[in-house]
Amino acid sequence: MNIILLGPPGAGKGTQARFLVDGRDMVQLSTGDMLRAARTSGTEMGNLVAGVMDRGELVTDDIVIGLIEEQLTTTVAPGGFIFDGFPRTLAQADALGALMDRLGKTLDTVIEMRVDDAALVDRITGRFTCGNCGEGFHDTLKVPAKEGVCDNCGESDFKRRADDNAESLNTRLMAYYKETSPLIGYYYAKGQLQSVDGLAAIDEVKGSISAALDKVG
Ligand code: AMP
Repeated sequence: MNIILLGPPGAGKGTQARFLVDGRDMVQLSTGDMLRAARTSGTEMGNLVAGVMDRGELVTDDIVIGLIEEQLTTTVAPGGFIFDGFPRTLAQADALGALMDRLGKTLDTVIEMRVDDAALVDRITGRFTCGNCGEGFHDTLKVPAKEGVCDNCGESDFKRRADDNAESLNTRLMAYYKETSPLIGYYYAKGQLQSVDGLAAIDEVKGSISAALDKVG
Protein backbone atom coordinates (compact mmCIF):
# COMPACT_ATOMS: atom_id res chain seq x y z
CA MET A 1 0.00 0.00 0.00
CA ASN A 2 1.37 3.43 -0.95
CA ILE A 3 0.08 6.43 0.96
CA ILE A 4 0.61 10.15 1.45
CA LEU A 5 0.53 11.76 4.90
CA LEU A 6 -0.61 15.31 4.28
CA GLY A 7 -0.64 18.09 6.86
CA PRO A 8 1.11 21.25 8.03
CA PRO A 9 4.48 21.20 9.80
CA GLY A 10 3.95 19.80 13.30
CA ALA A 11 0.83 17.81 12.39
CA GLY A 12 2.57 14.60 13.48
CA LYS A 13 3.34 13.10 10.07
CA GLY A 14 6.81 11.90 11.07
CA THR A 15 5.59 10.39 14.36
CA GLN A 16 2.81 8.47 12.64
CA ALA A 17 5.07 7.40 9.78
CA ARG A 18 7.39 5.74 12.31
CA PHE A 19 4.48 3.66 13.63
CA LEU A 20 3.63 2.52 10.11
CA VAL A 21 7.25 1.63 9.39
CA ASP A 22 7.43 -0.49 12.56
CA GLY A 23 3.95 -2.01 12.33
CA ARG A 24 3.39 -2.52 8.63
CA ASP A 25 6.82 -2.91 7.12
CA MET A 26 6.36 0.29 5.14
CA VAL A 27 9.19 2.59 4.00
CA GLN A 28 9.01 6.29 4.92
CA LEU A 29 10.05 8.68 2.18
CA SER A 30 10.51 12.06 3.85
CA THR A 31 11.89 14.69 1.50
CA GLY A 32 12.70 16.86 4.56
CA ASP A 33 14.89 14.06 5.99
CA MET A 34 16.55 13.52 2.59
CA LEU A 35 17.34 17.22 2.26
CA ARG A 36 18.70 17.40 5.83
CA ALA A 37 20.90 14.37 5.09
CA ALA A 38 22.21 16.09 1.95
CA ARG A 39 23.09 19.15 4.04
CA THR A 40 24.84 17.11 6.69
CA SER A 41 26.95 15.27 4.14
CA GLY A 42 27.72 18.60 2.43
CA THR A 43 26.69 17.65 -1.10
CA GLU A 44 26.41 20.40 -3.70
CA MET A 45 22.62 20.09 -3.59
CA GLY A 46 22.68 20.13 0.22
CA ASN A 47 24.60 23.42 0.23
CA LEU A 48 22.25 24.85 -2.36
CA VAL A 49 19.11 24.22 -0.31
CA ALA A 50 20.48 25.09 3.16
CA GLY A 51 19.44 28.77 3.20
CA VAL A 52 16.05 28.06 1.65
CA MET A 53 15.29 25.45 4.31
CA ASP A 54 16.45 27.64 7.20
CA ARG A 55 14.14 30.41 6.03
CA GLY A 56 11.26 27.93 5.87
CA GLU A 57 10.73 28.32 2.11
CA LEU A 58 10.14 25.45 -0.28
CA VAL A 59 13.03 24.08 -2.33
CA THR A 60 12.39 23.72 -6.06
CA ASP A 61 10.06 21.03 -7.37
CA ASP A 62 12.81 19.55 -9.58
CA ILE A 63 15.05 18.80 -6.62
CA VAL A 64 12.47 16.98 -4.50
CA ILE A 65 10.92 15.13 -7.45
CA GLY A 66 14.43 13.90 -8.33
CA LEU A 67 14.97 12.68 -4.76
CA ILE A 68 11.67 10.82 -4.72
CA GLU A 69 12.26 9.25 -8.12
CA GLU A 70 15.66 7.99 -7.00
CA GLN A 71 14.19 6.38 -3.88
CA LEU A 72 11.18 4.88 -5.63
CA THR A 73 13.33 3.24 -8.27
CA THR A 74 16.00 1.88 -5.91
CA THR A 75 14.21 0.99 -2.66
CA VAL A 76 12.31 -2.20 -1.92
CA ALA A 77 9.28 -1.57 0.29
CA PRO A 78 7.45 -4.79 1.26
CA GLY A 79 4.55 -2.91 2.90
CA GLY A 80 4.63 0.03 0.49
CA PHE A 81 5.77 3.65 0.69
CA ILE A 82 4.69 6.48 2.99
CA PHE A 83 5.19 9.87 1.38
CA ASP A 84 5.86 12.30 4.24
CA GLY A 85 6.26 15.98 3.39
CA PHE A 86 5.88 15.21 -0.32
CA PRO A 87 4.11 16.25 -2.49
CA ARG A 88 3.92 19.84 -1.29
CA THR A 89 2.80 21.57 -4.52
CA LEU A 90 0.37 20.70 -7.30
CA ALA A 91 3.30 20.27 -9.69
CA GLN A 92 4.83 17.72 -7.29
CA ALA A 93 1.49 15.90 -7.01
CA ASP A 94 1.21 15.66 -10.81
CA ALA A 95 4.81 14.48 -11.06
CA LEU A 96 4.22 11.82 -8.40
CA GLY A 97 1.15 10.56 -10.27
CA ALA A 98 3.10 10.31 -13.52
CA LEU A 99 6.02 8.59 -11.81
CA MET A 100 3.79 6.03 -10.09
CA ASP A 101 2.06 5.28 -13.41
CA ARG A 102 5.41 4.82 -15.11
CA LEU A 103 6.60 2.44 -12.38
CA GLY A 104 3.31 0.50 -12.37
CA LYS A 105 2.55 1.52 -8.77
CA THR A 106 -0.68 2.88 -7.32
CA LEU A 107 -1.36 5.54 -4.73
CA ASP A 108 -3.86 3.91 -2.39
CA THR A 109 -4.92 6.76 -0.15
CA VAL A 110 -4.04 10.25 1.06
CA ILE A 111 -4.45 10.92 4.76
CA GLU A 112 -4.96 14.51 5.77
CA MET A 113 -3.98 15.20 9.39
CA ARG A 114 -6.10 18.11 10.55
CA VAL A 115 -4.68 20.42 13.26
CA ASP A 116 -5.03 24.08 14.18
CA ASP A 117 -2.27 26.68 14.01
CA ALA A 118 -2.12 27.46 17.75
CA ALA A 119 -1.31 23.83 18.52
CA LEU A 120 1.31 23.73 15.76
CA VAL A 121 3.37 26.57 17.22
CA ASP A 122 3.54 24.79 20.61
CA ARG A 123 4.29 21.44 19.06
CA ILE A 124 7.06 22.70 16.82
CA THR A 125 8.89 25.09 19.10
CA GLY A 126 9.13 22.40 21.83
CA ARG A 127 10.12 19.39 19.79
CA PHE A 128 13.45 17.57 19.63
CA THR A 129 14.64 14.17 18.46
CA CYS A 130 17.20 11.58 19.43
CA GLY A 131 20.18 12.00 17.09
CA ASN A 132 20.89 8.27 17.31
CA CYS A 133 17.53 6.56 16.66
CA GLY A 134 15.27 9.42 15.54
CA GLU A 135 12.70 9.02 18.36
CA GLY A 136 10.72 12.25 18.75
CA PHE A 137 10.25 14.10 22.07
CA HIS A 138 8.74 17.37 23.29
CA ASP A 139 9.57 19.78 26.13
CA THR A 140 6.11 19.37 27.69
CA LEU A 141 4.06 16.90 25.61
CA LYS A 142 6.53 14.00 25.57
CA VAL A 143 9.50 14.33 27.91
CA PRO A 144 12.02 11.49 28.18
CA ALA A 145 11.31 9.27 31.24
CA LYS A 146 14.88 9.94 32.42
CA GLU A 147 16.03 13.49 31.76
CA GLY A 148 18.56 13.70 28.94
CA VAL A 149 18.28 10.01 27.98
CA CYS A 150 16.39 8.61 25.00
CA ASP A 151 13.59 6.21 26.08
CA ASN A 152 14.06 4.18 22.93
CA CYS A 153 17.82 3.62 22.64
CA GLY A 154 19.40 5.04 25.82
CA GLU A 155 21.62 7.57 24.00
CA SER A 156 21.91 11.22 25.11
CA ASP A 157 22.44 12.98 21.80
CA PHE A 158 19.33 15.11 21.29
CA LYS A 159 18.87 17.47 18.33
CA ARG A 160 16.59 20.39 17.52
CA ARG A 161 15.90 21.41 13.93
CA ALA A 162 17.40 24.73 12.81
CA ASP A 163 14.07 25.70 11.21
CA ASP A 164 11.95 24.99 14.31
CA ASN A 165 11.87 28.65 15.38
CA ALA A 166 8.97 31.10 15.39
CA GLU A 167 10.14 33.12 12.35
CA SER A 168 10.82 30.19 10.05
CA LEU A 169 7.65 28.50 11.24
CA ASN A 170 5.61 31.48 10.05
CA THR A 171 7.07 31.12 6.57
CA ARG A 172 6.53 27.34 6.62
CA LEU A 173 2.89 27.73 7.62
CA MET A 174 2.35 30.30 4.87
CA ALA A 175 3.97 27.97 2.35
CA TYR A 176 1.67 25.19 3.55
CA TYR A 177 -1.51 27.23 3.13
CA LYS A 178 -0.48 28.76 -0.20
CA GLU A 179 1.21 25.84 -1.92
CA THR A 180 0.26 22.60 -0.16
CA SER A 181 -3.30 22.93 1.13
CA PRO A 182 -4.71 22.97 -2.46
CA LEU A 183 -3.68 19.29 -2.53
CA ILE A 184 -6.56 18.55 -0.16
CA GLY A 185 -9.02 19.53 -2.89
CA TYR A 186 -6.91 17.84 -5.55
CA TYR A 187 -6.97 14.44 -3.83
CA TYR A 188 -10.57 14.86 -2.68
CA ALA A 189 -11.59 15.31 -6.33
CA LYS A 190 -9.69 12.13 -7.20
CA GLY A 191 -11.62 10.27 -4.47
CA GLN A 192 -8.40 9.47 -2.59
CA LEU A 193 -8.66 11.73 0.45
CA GLN A 194 -9.35 10.63 4.03
CA SER A 195 -9.09 12.97 7.02
CA VAL A 196 -8.14 12.27 10.63
CA ASP A 197 -8.10 14.52 13.69
CA GLY A 198 -4.40 15.23 14.19
CA LEU A 199 -5.06 16.96 17.51
CA ALA A 200 -6.16 13.76 19.24
CA ALA A 201 -3.73 11.82 21.45
CA ILE A 202 -0.90 10.11 19.55
CA ASP A 203 -2.40 6.63 20.02
CA GLU A 204 -5.84 7.77 18.89
CA VAL A 205 -4.39 9.29 15.73
CA LYS A 206 -2.52 6.03 15.17
CA GLY A 207 -5.83 4.15 15.46
CA SER A 208 -7.62 6.51 13.06
CA ILE A 209 -4.87 6.13 10.47
CA SER A 210 -4.93 2.37 10.86
CA ALA A 211 -8.71 2.37 10.29
CA ALA A 212 -8.26 4.59 7.23
CA LEU A 213 -5.69 2.18 5.77
CA ASP A 214 -7.88 -0.84 6.47
CA LYS A 215 -10.64 0.79 4.42
CA VAL A 216 -8.51 0.75 1.30
CA GLY A 217 -6.22 -2.20 1.99
P1 AMP B 1 10.00 18.94 6.60
O1 AMP B 1 10.99 18.10 7.33
O2 AMP B 1 9.05 18.12 5.79
O3 AMP B 1 9.30 19.92 7.49
O4 AMP B 1 10.83 19.81 5.54
C1 AMP B 1 11.82 20.73 5.96
C2 AMP B 1 12.12 21.71 4.84
O5 AMP B 1 12.62 21.00 3.70
C3 AMP B 1 10.93 22.48 4.30
O6 AMP B 1 10.64 23.63 5.07
C4 AMP B 1 11.41 22.83 2.89
O7 AMP B 1 12.36 23.87 2.92
C5 AMP B 1 12.13 21.56 2.49
N1 AMP B 1 11.22 20.56 1.87
C6 AMP B 1 10.93 19.32 2.33
N2 AMP B 1 10.08 18.66 1.51
C7 AMP B 1 9.84 19.52 0.49
C8 AMP B 1 9.03 19.43 -0.68
N3 AMP B 1 8.29 18.32 -0.97
N4 AMP B 1 9.00 20.50 -1.52
C9 AMP B 1 9.74 21.60 -1.26
N5 AMP B 1 10.50 21.75 -0.18
C10 AMP B 1 10.57 20.73 0.70
